[in-house]
Amino acid sequence: MTRRRNPREPQVPDPIAGLVDPRLAGAKCTGRAPLFDDELPGETSEDRSDRLAYATSICRTCPVQSACRTAAAEQDHPIGLWAGHLHSPAGTPGRPRKVTA
Ligand code: SF4
Repeated sequence: MTRRRNPREPQVPDPIAGLVDPRLAGAKCTGRAPLFDDELPGETSEDRSDRLAYATSICRTCPVQSACRTAAAEQDHPIGLWAGHLHSPAGTPGRPRKVTA
């Protein structure tokens, strides 16, 4: 049995689809979000440095790195690793942390 669609049924946009930037199709970070986060709970500074260095190495070979850089520049406050550059939350005290690769 197939369900007939009510022609007056409102079309609700898919909220997930609205979050996807088509310019970033093929991104090497797809499905690996925590790896690119600014900080992870309970993470030591050494583990964080190693993780971000590994993530940065992934960015270097990403086919959409340029589009990613553009997308980051369009954000009001990007957070995390974008195109190999770390963005920390606004208002974070201290100097920006270096990411060693
Ligand atoms: S360059 Fe951007 S899209 Fe590509 S892996 Fe890095 S963060 Fe992801």
